[in-house]
Amino acid sequence: MNAPTSESLLRHGAERVREPERVREPERVREPERVREPQQPNHAPPRQPGRAPQSSVTPNPGHAPPVRPRRALARLGDAMQRHRRTIMAIQWFIVGSYLLLVAIPAFLPLPESGQSIVSNLVLFAQFAFWGIWWPFVIASMFLVGRAWCGVFCPEGALTEFASRHGLGRGIPRWIRWSGWPFVAFACTTIYGQLISVYEYSRAALLILGGSTVLAIAVGLVYGRNSRVWCRYLCPVSGVFGLLSKVAPVHFAVDQQQWAQHPGRAARIDCAPLIDVRHMTSTSDCHSCGRCSGHRDAVALEARRPNAEILSAGPRQIGTGSAFLLVFGMLGLATGAFQWTLSPWFVVMRQGAAKWLIEHDSFVLLRDDAPWWLLTHYPSASDVFTWLDGIAIVTYIVGYAAIAGGLAWLALRAAARVAGASRFDWKTLALGLVPMAGAGLFVGLTMITITQLRAEGWVPPGVPIVRAVLLGGAIAWSLWLGLRIVADSPAAIVRRAVAAVLYLVPVSVFASTWYLMYVAW
Ligand code: SF4
Ligand code: SF4
Repeated sequence: MNAPTSESLLRHGAERVREPERVREPERVREPERVREPQQPNHAPPRQPGRAPQSSVTPNPGHAPPVRPRRALARLGDAMQRHRRTIMAIQWFIVGSYLLLVAIPAFLPLPESGQSIVSNLVLFAQFAFWGIWWPFVIASMFLVGRAWCGVFCPEGALTEFASRHGLGRGIPRWIRWSGWPFVAFACTTIYGQLISVYEYSRAALLILGGSTVLAIAVGLVYGRNSRVWCRYLCPVSGVFGLLSKVAPVHFAVDQQQWAQHPGRAARIDCAPLIDVRHMTSTSDCHSCGRCSGHRDAVALEARRPNAEILSAGPRQIGTGSAFLLVFGMLGLATGAFQWTLSPWFVVMRQGAAKWLIEHDSFVLLRDDAPWWLLTHYPSASDVFTWLDGIAIVTYIVGYAAIAGGLAWLALRAAARVAGASRFDWKTLALGLVPMAGAGLFVGLTMITITQLRAEGWVPPGVPIVRAVLLGGAIAWSLWLGLRIVADSPAAIVRRAVAAVLYLVPVSVFASTWYLMYVAW
């Protein structure tokens, strides 16, 4: 047994940047889109220059609707549809890069003092993966929706590849449970903190590699040519589904055009199993482009970033998604970013250690847990005691319960007071998406900054950029929530009360970031 030292007891007040991982959501979950329209006795129009490639196979000169010009974005979507092999080549390239960054460093020795990201593969991989790759995957959701999933993600590509060659079994009910996104996100976030996933390559391989192995296993057993893993189980899919709601581009479906289009259409190979015809949300769409131009009714289009959130009504958002947003992204993830900086954490842990020592109870002060359960790298002087593990879990879960609980109660009260036919608490919670996304991005870039600081270089203006990003996102969330409340048909007094209640979640999370970057 290793006796606790005062240094080890205090160690966790030190600056160690950590973060959350993954997520997903189910809303608008539909059966696999294996659409086959009744064949009509007519013929498709001849292919026009610049027009979408047609999935339809039956010609129909008689009743064809007029050809619609394709805009630049739509042509980009069509190009994605035509160049699927190129996209697959990109995906396999990313699979190779993923192996290089995640698998190989896990079998290399820990970096020695004085080594840098340009001289050590382990440090380079940590910086490339956690410092650059992940923050900008999060940022990409705001800009281009889930194109990461449809074009680049190695795990998505591997699970789909596996399902092409697997058993092709039907999807059981337990997989469709809408709570998986929250549970998977919560588990990976907390477990990642316990084993220091951002600092150690073995830990990263365990979490990311484990997730990839599960994705492949699910692909081998369930579904055919599809991404059952992505649709129901991926720990980040729910987060990506929420963030992509504010993306300024999406694959839009013209349902009238769909219905009018003559001839029998070929099947859409939609890997995340979306009912494309009725798709109204970007949340589940991987933006892969395979349906672009289908029936001349699907096209990549620009839209107002707030449109999807402002148009959502009561009972349109799944409870799992709303919980993921409030208790997961804003709760657990923020707690995971926060504990390493928090003086409250230090006080809590030291108080518990003191109490244990006074009662001659040293079991929880031992640091003999294996590295895959708690951080254990004696050569780097980084070892967690059992008490550390308990304190970390308590802090993260406690923060999520208190901050998320306050937000949840306030949102529910606001919906009760003024929701009427306009919104329920889950609809109103969507207003917090910008804040949640900015929090994830800024939290992840804490890792980037820490790594750059270790290299002796800190980019200028970081505090200002952070303040602008967080401040802008808070203002955006505020505006969204107040717009939703203002649209309610409830009496003005009720709407005013609801608006004040909406300030509670915004204030809670804004003050958390203030504490982290200013007060502490
Ligand atoms: S949902 Fe699928 S494609 Fe998207 S991040 Fe998860 S594994 Fe990758
Ligand atoms: S809806 Fe279209 S773009 Fe979206 S994932 Fe399915 S096939 Fe790809």
